Parts: sequence; C-alpha cells; structure tokens
Amino acid sequence: MGEESNGLLTIERDEGRRKCPSCGEENKNMIHESTDKTNIINDYPRVFGKKYRCGRCGQEWREK
Ligand SMILES: [Zn+2]
Repeated sequence: MGEESNGLLTIERDEGRRKCPSCGEENKNMIHESTDKTNIINDYPRVFGKKYRCGRCGQEWREK
C-alpha cells in the first residue's frame, strides 16, 4: 500500500453535493473525510487540507 499520493485526485470544489469523482457516489456516509498532512494550507497556525475517500470504490481526492 504505497500509492498514497499516486492515486490522489485534485478536483474543483463543487457547489452542490460532494460526490466521488470516480464512481459518482453521493452518500456522505460513504465519503470519508480526513486530514491531508501532505497539504499544508497555512504554516502558523498549522492548518492542513482535507482529503476524501470513497467507501464504495476507494478513490481518494482533495478539493481545490
Ligand atoms: Zn467512488
């Protein structure tokens, strides 16, 4: 399991519902939000970006 950064898509933030860019899953219970430690938004105070993972197809992505 070493494809942490390889499989990560970056997509435009959508106005509507968050959905999986790969399979289109919209159920928020299936979309898992986590902190993306490789994406530092602000240095002080330290703020990290968020990333999302689809529980249906396993796709990971983050939003601009
Ligand atoms: Zn998916």
